[in-house]
Amino acid sequence: MIHITLPDGSVKTFDENVTPMDVAKSISEGFARNVISANFNGTTVETVTPLTTDGSLILYTWNDDDGKTAFWHSSAHVLAQAIEELYPGAKLTIGPAIENGFYYDVDFGNHVVSEKDFKAIEYKMLEIARGKHDFKMRSATKAEALALYKGNEFKTELITNLEDGTITFCDHATFTDLCRGGHIPNTGIIKAAKILSVAGAYWRGNEKNPQLTRVYGISFPKQKDLTEYLELLEEAKKRDHRKLGKELELFTFSQKVGAGLPLWLPKGAALRERLENFLKAAQKKAGYEMVVTPHIGQKELYVTSGHYAKYGADSFQPISTPKEGEEFLLKPMNCPHHCEIYNHTQWSYKDLPKRYAEFGTVYRYEQSGELHGLTRVRGFTQDDAHLFCTPDQLDAEFKNVIDLVLYVFGSLGFENFTAQVSLRDPENPDKYIGSLENWEKAEKAIMSATIDKGLTYTVKTGEAAFYGPKLDFMVKDALGRQWQLGTIQVDYNLPERFDLTYKGSDNELHRPVMIHRAPFGSMERFIAILLEHTAGNFPLWLMPTQAIILSISEKYEKYAEKVLNLLENDEIRALVDNRNETIGKKIREAEMQKHPYMIIIGEQEENENKITVRAHGGEDLGMVSIEDFSKIIKTEISKTLKSF
Ligand SMILES: [Zn+2]
Ligand SMILES: [Zn+2]
Repeated sequence: MIHITLPDGSVKTFDENVTPMDVAKSISEGFARNVISANFNGTTVETVTPLTTDGSLILYTWNDDDGKTAFWHSSAHVLAQAIEELYPGAKLTIGPAIENGFYYDVDFGNHVVSEKDFKAIEYKMLEIARGKHDFKMRSATKAEALALYKGNEFKTELITNLEDGTITFCDHATFTDLCRGGHIPNTGIIKAAKILSVAGAYWRGNEKNPQLTRVYGISFPKQKDLTEYLELLEEAKKRDHRKLGKELELFTFSQKVGAGLPLWLPKGAALRERLENFLKAAQKKAGYEMVVTPHIGQKELYVTSGHYAKYGADSFQPISTPKEGEEFLLKPMNCPHHCEIYNHTQWSYKDLPKRYAEFGTVYRYEQSGELHGLTRVRGFTQDDAHLFCTPDQLDAEFKNVIDLVLYVFGSLGFENFTAQVSLRDPENPDKYIGSLENWEKAEKAIMSATIDKGLTYTVKTGEAAFYGPKLDFMVKDALGRQWQLGTIQVDYNLPERFDLTYKGSDNELHRPVMIHRAPFGSMERFIAILLEHTAGNFPLWLMPTQAIILSISEKYEKYAEKVLNLLENDEIRALVDNRNETIGKKIREAEMQKHPYMIIIGEQEENENKITVRAHGGEDLGMVSIEDFSKIIKTEISKTLKSF
């Protein structure tokens, strides 16, 4: 008899050689029908693997990430079989599951696979799937494995690097692949499959190696899931910040200026300014002081901070002065500069906390192939701040920072988020800098702040930075994608390295604790996420133009100007479209530009001293007075933008 511990802590007794699927059935037949993979004592196993020892068993369904991984890993086998049958002579290499789906890297010889091939591959995959073939693992000797892949130099290379006795195959139907395991019970569970794209990929990611074709696919247990996924992809394409940034004239890139260096157009610069002013106002109320630091710093500064040792080789290389030979680095982070600002005088405990904020532009080297719109760039502006406080003030300061971050999220329509608390690994105290006492204080401060603020949170033990624990906000956007936004980090390292001190009530010198925080993270990445989250329909307070005045004909130009004046007096950002175009065309263009409100004026409006209002998306608000329209705008703004 063996004892199997389930995730709820219950222990069940079974005969030896019981399989995970048997265990699932003992729970309920209905549950067992949904179980698609399993993990025993921390290792992925097949649902049919006989269990021979006591241990902990987790059973996964499609709703678990591990379940999806097994599903997509198994689908990659089916894709490989389909390719082998459709393209005799194609050489299979590797084919893993990825975050959304799976891929297989294939050497198709002279055949160029394109979208024209996708339908046939999908059809073949589903035909195989419908055969309900079991996935069966077996061991093979090195000689057997090499014989199977005779003529396939890629698999041969993989097998050559494996140790004899550790090689396993997976069979389903008439197909065999080299594989370490982790499958769904049979192919029949795959009910929908889609080939998404093909791309070039070098064997083992090395450009000196032959180029292969990477075939990307995704599969689902229900046709409905695939339909929903494709709709989501379509919507994500429409919301791509690179596309919206162009349409809304927010930013551009220039080959001449350089890759990964965004250029902000007037409308984008105005948007940034509004975001910055919003945060500056809240920070002022929270007792922050603005500072300004240069874009470069002596190499020595980053040697002191430790950044040079850690990131120096992967940074922009130092720039030097022609005569003195001094070496400077483009600023990769603002913290060292802020430490030196703190250091310009001797503080007393009565002066603390000091809270220095800066919209600091930093430069980090990214490989050109890694650059992506505004989310992966080489120059970006952090909404950075560093707080220097006594250990006793940490608790309160941490809570204040959380309040500020929550205020930012609330004002910008991010309602779906969780906090991720990263703590040290207590088993490995040597990994961390700073006294145990201070770490305990900091971790207690983070945990109690997180709980007091009522945040939904997860704890990641061992995920803290070596210099301190941290709290990250994981935000879900309108398409359900998760982004890390807003980070608060406690740091004992830099105060040590920069020899920061304050005079305590005992007249002795003490080390302050430092907090790094950036609610947006960077202006570039934040605006990219905000664009994709809102599809460009920002909260009204942030919109570049809140209302556009469309005159029915040039005759009403004067009245249009009058309406504009009155709205501007009420601090509403408005524009006039007086062009000699049809009202239909003006409305269509205003819709494209995502202007939240369209104000239509003609003869009746002028005679009655009113305006006709139409909201973005088509809702007709009818004819109203200008004062009433102002009230509508103010009410809508106050729903998202509260005072801090
Ligand atoms: Zn496999
Ligand atoms: Zn920092």
